[in-house]
Amino acid sequence: MNKEELNKIKEKALEEHIPIIMDDTLEVVDKILKEVKPSRILEIGTAVGYSAICFSEYLQKNGVIDTIEREEQRVKEAKINVEKVGVSDKINIYEGDAVEILPTLNEKYDVVFIDAAKGKYPFFLKEALRMLNPTGVILADNILYKGYVMSDYNKHKQRTAVRNLREYIKEVTENPDIETEILEVGDGLAISKYKEK
Ligand code: SAH
Ligand code: MG
Repeated sequence: MNKEELNKIKEKALEEHIPIIMDDTLEVVDKILKEVKPSRILEIGTAVGYSAICFSEYLQKNGVIDTIEREEQRVKEAKINVEKVGVSDKINIYEGDAVEILPTLNEKYDVVFIDAAKGKYPFFLKEALRMLNPTGVILADNILYKGYVMSDYNKHKQRTAVRNLREYIKEVTENPDIETEILEVGDGLAISKYKEK
């Protein structure tokens, strides 16, 4: 992979205020990917492809990432970026709303990275659980959303997002089949997996 191109993509995304994965979050995800050794990753929220490109380094031979993005312009840029870095054979970019695309997918995934509309996290969780391999991991970025999620401040204009992120946390913690860890890295990262039987 062309690291120099990857760095340029990162710098450009940051300049344009595209909310790409934060460095400390990426560090945690890297460790998880090294352990899981995924063959298939599902990403919800491609933006310009930065995280997908980073994750592609940890794929097993012939592994793939399916990633979904609804903004046409970002999809275009993501396609150019994966070419530039030299990982286009490992990354399938789906253009459209994940709410519509996810129900059409029937693959099994080792890792699902949720990083799109916060108001849809409970739906994304349901779809992720449907497609997760028994040894797989679901990662939800921005789960603490600038601290709003764990504070009692409810009048914020982003309250629909906050309500749905809280709902996500409630569902993963109350589900008896899965165990979840929530880390304060970046904007918050929830890590969920099936309990060992
Ligand atoms: N994962 C990327 C950053 C994603 S930012 C990285 O770390 O590099 C979130 C992206 O999700 C935005 O580009 C936004 O357009 C997209 N998005 C938000 N809601 C979506 C939805 N319902 N379906 C598909 N894409 C969505
Ligand atoms: Mg994010």
